Amino acid sequence: SKHFPVRRGPRALLGGPRQAVHAVDDVSLELRRGSVTALVGESGSGKSTVARLLAQLHPLTAGELLLDGKPVKAGRGRAFRAYCRHVQMVFQDPFASLNPVHTIRYHLTRALRIHDRAGNGPQELERALTALLERVQLTPAGRYLDAFPHELSGGQRQRVAIARAMAADPRVLLADEPVSMLDVSIRLGVLNLLRDLKERLDLAILYITHDIASARYFADTTLVMYAGRMVEGGDSETVTQRPAHPYTRLLLASAPDPDRVTGPGAGTDDEADGGTDGEPGTDADPSAGEPPSLISPPEGCRFHPRCPLAMERCRTETPPRFDLDDGQWAACWLYDAPAAVPAASAAGTG
Ligand code: SF4
Ligand code: MG
Repeated sequence: SKHFPVRRGPRALLGGPRQAVHAVDDVSLELRRGSVTALVGESGSGKSTVARLLAQLHPLTAGELLLDGKPVKAGRGRAFRAYCRHVQMVFQDPFASLNPVHTIRYHLTRALRIHDRAGNGPQELERALTALLERVQLTPAGRYLDAFPHELSGGQRQRVAIARAMAADPRVLLADEPVSMLDVSIRLGVLNLLRDLKERLDLAILYITHDIASARYFADTTLVMYAGRMVEGGDSETVTQRPAHPYTRLLLASAPDPDRVTGPGAGTDDEADGGTDGEPGTDADPSAGEPPSLISPPEGCRFHPRCPLAMERCRTETPPRFDLDDGQWAACWLYDAPAAVPAASAAGTG
């Protein structure tokens, strides 16, 4: 969990009671090597905060981090530096993450030196730099090394940012909306590069996105966050084809996905299997409502003010995770029944 203290109101009242933004509450996730985990949600759902907690950019309010099953010590000492080598981050904005007055060579050399991977002497350094750029498919390396960030395209800049993360030889890559600021036409190339790195380097990747359609394409596992809590998880195919949580259905209904018919009269989805796919557009109107304030989040299920299927208990009791088939789970009271069937009971058909 992560709560950020805030103080509201005029200065005269600053001595008043402290409040907190409940940015992340009771979130639990596991990243595995050789696997992409997507964390999906609207802006303000807390997904970037999760990444920043995993990168130890913020201390946890409650809970713990484990690396290889061992607790990670908080603090900025030697253990922290070792942790940073294993857990690297790529940010949304490749313009902001590279210093405009320095060349690509400077950025990558600095990263290699910090992680003690620059080798001995100029030749080894040159080889390490070339290998990094080749790894992100910027070749010939000589064309990019002495360029400044503004001389590269957005996609090339993001590849440099990925190369810089790879300079640490990490095991975990936290990618916070890595393609959302790029032209649509080059997004796929960057996601394919990340997938290639995952496979070749056995990386665990956390892919943060508001675009659930890209999670389906790119991630092995998909987790959905709403208002600081995790509401659904499972393998990406299942979560996107048979969403269990009403919020996931709303996200899918509002996601532009060429593979999916989401307009009025939807239901012709050719991948529907035995009718379990339901009609994502029927549960909720995507335009209905917006995420709640996290200073005083709704009691019970945080989605209840927007949920067309809300029941009385949803207003007061926080739903725990209910396990469904095939590793899928949902934090929703609809599944609190021995005979609960994913999707069917929530699709408004029963
Ligand atoms: Fe809707 Fe209740 Fe499920 Fe929350 S717990 S998503 S309010 S049905
Ligand atoms: Mg964000």
